[in-house]
Amino acid sequence: MSKKQKQTLWRILASAVLLAAAVLLPLEGWFRLCAFLVPYAVIGWDVLWRAARNISHGQVFDENFLMALATLGAFCIGEYPEAVFVMLFYQVGELFQSYAVGKSRQSITALMDIRPDYANIERGGELVQVDPDEVSVGDTIVIKAGERVPLDGVVLEGKSTLDTAALTGESLPREAEPGDDVISGCVNLSGLLKVRVTKAFEESTVAKILDLVENSSSKKARAENFITKFARYYTPAVVIGAVLLAVIPSLVTGQWGVWVHRALIFLVISCPCALVISIPLSFFGGIGGASARGILVKGGNYLELLAQTETVVFDKTGTLTRGVFELSALHPAPGAEERLLELAALAESYSDHPISRSLREAYGKEIDAGRVTDVEEIAGHGVRAEVDGVPVAVGNDKLMERVGVEWHPCHRVGTTVHVASEGRYLGHIVISDEVKEDAVQAISALKAMGVRKTVMLTGDTRAVGEDVAARLGLDEVHTQLLPAGKVERVEALLKEKTGRGKLAFVGDGINDAPVLSRADLGIAMGGLGSDAAIEAADIVLMDDKPSKIAAAIRISKQTLRIVRQNIVFALGVKLLVLALGALGMANMWEAVFADVGVSVIAILNAMRALRAGDR
Ligand code: ADP
Ligand code: MG
Repeated sequence: MSKKQKQTLWRILASAVLLAAAVLLPLEGWFRLCAFLVPYAVIGWDVLWRAARNISHGQVFDENFLMALATLGAFCIGEYPEAVFVMLFYQVGELFQSYAVGKSRQSITALMDIRPDYANIERGGELVQVDPDEVSVGDTIVIKAGERVPLDGVVLEGKSTLDTAALTGESLPREAEPGDDVISGCVNLSGLLKVRVTKAFEESTVAKILDLVENSSSKKARAENFITKFARYYTPAVVIGAVLLAVIPSLVTGQWGVWVHRALIFLVISCPCALVISIPLSFFGGIGGASARGILVKGGNYLELLAQTETVVFDKTGTLTRGVFELSALHPAPGAEERLLELAALAESYSDHPISRSLREAYGKEIDAGRVTDVEEIAGHGVRAEVDGVPVAVGNDKLMERVGVEWHPCHRVGTTVHVASEGRYLGHIVISDEVKEDAVQAISALKAMGVRKTVMLTGDTRAVGEDVAARLGLDEVHTQLLPAGKVERVEALLKEKTGRGKLAFVGDGINDAPVLSRADLGIAMGGLGSDAAIEAADIVLMDDKPSKIAAAIRISKQTLRIVRQNIVFALGVKLLVLALGALGMANMWEAVFADVGVSVIAILNAMRALRAGDR
């Protein structure tokens, strides 16, 4: 419990005792009024103060105003004990609310508890703990068993297993050995690791994730904006309603006391707290629950879009396939046997494309990047560079046409990478990729979630693209596309979809950023993908598993269902009690109770969103 909550609790107790005293003492007239004003001031001064301050700021109609008006009104008509009780009850409700909100925020932060506290650095032969902020790129840090990896880097020494659950939601531990990349936020389970830091803390995976999650509440869902607007019209409408209720029947019947009292009850009932608190809390819960599963959603509005997904468009390499190509054939032109793979690996040495990484891996030897200059990466084509001062082109058929070199087609199914140098064809390398383990299941799960169309767009050849699409059961496939062609295709698909349906694009981010931002929803693979994609995307899948898209849709649907339940429930009960109050069938006690009760139930319901998708 926070300090402020404790204070409120003491005030509630003090005011309750003073109120009991006021009820028991045999006082009359002004003395009696003063005896009740004391507990009222103890419990209600902050509400009165906020109401007065808001009025002076021009924001007249809020719940503080409603409570102040209702209770001061009760004093005016001589209902002293009731006035104090209403305020007391209201504060009990507020205390409960703030406690529940605090609790659920805590559980979300606990889910996101990946911020490292320190990093171990060797200084003069001794290990010292420093703030991760103070470590610079190139420094060597030591991570002991049980500690959290504080910064992104490469393992220099040691072997261990890492628990990536906090980042990816997967409990399967990952092995780490010298040469492997480790990302911050994982927990080192067994051995001692020496790691060379490759990114400063602000650039590290942990810092980026925390940033995303912390900023996610600034992107409001439509339902949240609706509540803000709703409150702006609702409160004045209720106040006008109360005035009419006090005046009109009184003029007719002459019973001013009865109708003013009913109008005051009407005011107490009308506080829209349940809605105002529970709806943002539900979205917050949905986002928190998704991040615990390795799905980062950058705002409540994206959960809303996700629930309406009708078309899912995939990139191939790195998204549906692993992006780890195996060498399946080397076909050098006569005389180029020795150099084919070496030239390809060297020319590709600066690129992050999965093909480049795989060629470097296949080459296997240390690469002297100093031999490579003038690198030009041409999206959807390949790479041109100078190796030892000699121009080299490595890429597909289109690139060969572009540099004007005759090439030989290959009979093998796979991605063919041609190599040419100084206008001479040196042969080709055939590599092939595997579909991800969960890709088939990912597509069928999407269908089961009501997605109408699944499409794959790829820059790869027709043979490879159609083979993958057939194996995964995709509805449509478009091959040999350049990045601009992918944007065009997505635009055509955007036109095809029906009314409210949304189109999601899923990519690994290597030259996907334009499509990611063009689609209604951009989803990026976070583990493999590039930083640009993570920034352009609305949703990031930390463990690169396409099956997480269906999981994300399920979470979004459940969160929205909870939001709708809360809106219907809170407004329904409100309207019912308002009607009863107007008819004189509910007293002020019941009114406050209804308000507090509805808020509590709505908050508890909202907290279910944290566990959305568990089923
Ligand atoms: P995808 O749409 O499957 O993600 P890309 O658009 O990234 O593929 O690339 C399309 C094609 O362009 C690849 O299949 C490959 O033939 C060629 N290509 C792109 N980048 C490279 C590269 N760095 N090296 C060699 N070939 C490349
Ligand atoms: Mg790609």
